[in-house]
Amino acid sequence: MKVIRLAKQAVQLSKKKRTKYRFQKLKMCKKCNRYSVLGDEKCQNCGSDFIGIETLVKSIFKNRLFTEAIWILMFVCVGILAAPTVKMLYYSLIAGVVFVIGYVILTSIFMKSEYFMQLKKLLRIDLRKIAAGIQYDSELAKEDVHAERLAPAYEKLRDIGDFIASDQVKIRRIMVLNEIVLRSDMELELEPLIPSSYDSNFVKYALEVLKINRTLFTKKCIAYFIKYREAIVSDFGMDSLISVAGSALRMKLYILEFSEFIEEFLEYFPKDRFLRLCSIIYSNPEVDWGSLEEKTKRLVMVKYHYDPDFKQFVS
Ligand SMILES: [Zn+2]
Repeated sequence: MKVIRLAKQAVQLSKKKRTKYRFQKLKMCKKCNRYSVLGDEKCQNCGSDFIGIETLVKSIFKNRLFTEAIWILMFVCVGILAAPTVKMLYYSLIAGVVFVIGYVILTSIFMKSEYFMQLKKLLRIDLRKIAAGIQYDSELAKEDVHAERLAPAYEKLRDIGDFIASDQVKIRRIMVLNEIVLRSDMELELEPLIPSSYDSNFVKYALEVLKINRTLFTKKCIAYFIKYREAIVSDFGMDSLISVAGSALRMKLYILEFSEFIEEFLEYFPKDRFLRLCSIIYSNPEVDWGSLEEKTKRLVMVKYHYDPDFKQFVS
């Protein structure tokens, strides 16, 4: 279903919560027995507090330790009760104490790996449940989109996208972003949203980002535009490629990497971009710029010969 809106929505996006590992985003509602990756503190279904996956694993781990300790104690007790003499009683008591101490020491040494083993086991056993939970999260995002609550919809899709890097989630995020008025103070992302094939929604979004924050246009993004240039030109016109080539003039490394692509659009760059290219080439005479250098110098002579801004480059 496509919702047609007359104007883009102005929204405030919350800051992204970062975790060291992807799994740390997982949380569980013990009441509904449901997993979620959304930022909400409370279960959207029943309102009870979510338990983070780490707390969950730790509690499972503690329970296991406790059960094992009880078993050891029981064996010691049996040994004491069954001891025929006082001497044997002492022996079994000492053996029991040594065993418990040894057990505690060994467990604390392997605590970290034990914890990760427990975590892996839980993730493996609950895989289907986790998938169902994320499916529910994405239904919630869909409801937000339909109700035109774009900021919460985007934040939900962003949380899901941090967990699953599928094209489907990426495109859904991008489609919401295309309905929002983008601003430079927003925590926008570009490279993580690059889909695996051509998608006009992504290109539309990327071109919008280019106007706001050129620094987000990384190597991978420029390479995407080069790879799908024909489709992009037919959907968005030649100007879009010229702006992308212009964004590659941002860094010396990018100029070297995409020199052929830049060379193609040399004549079409606005004066400030071309001036930037000239100053980078002239201040790095030791670098082998290939045919780009020659073509740049020629263009200076032909087009900007009388321009005072280019005086230093005219020989
Ligand atoms: Zn619940």
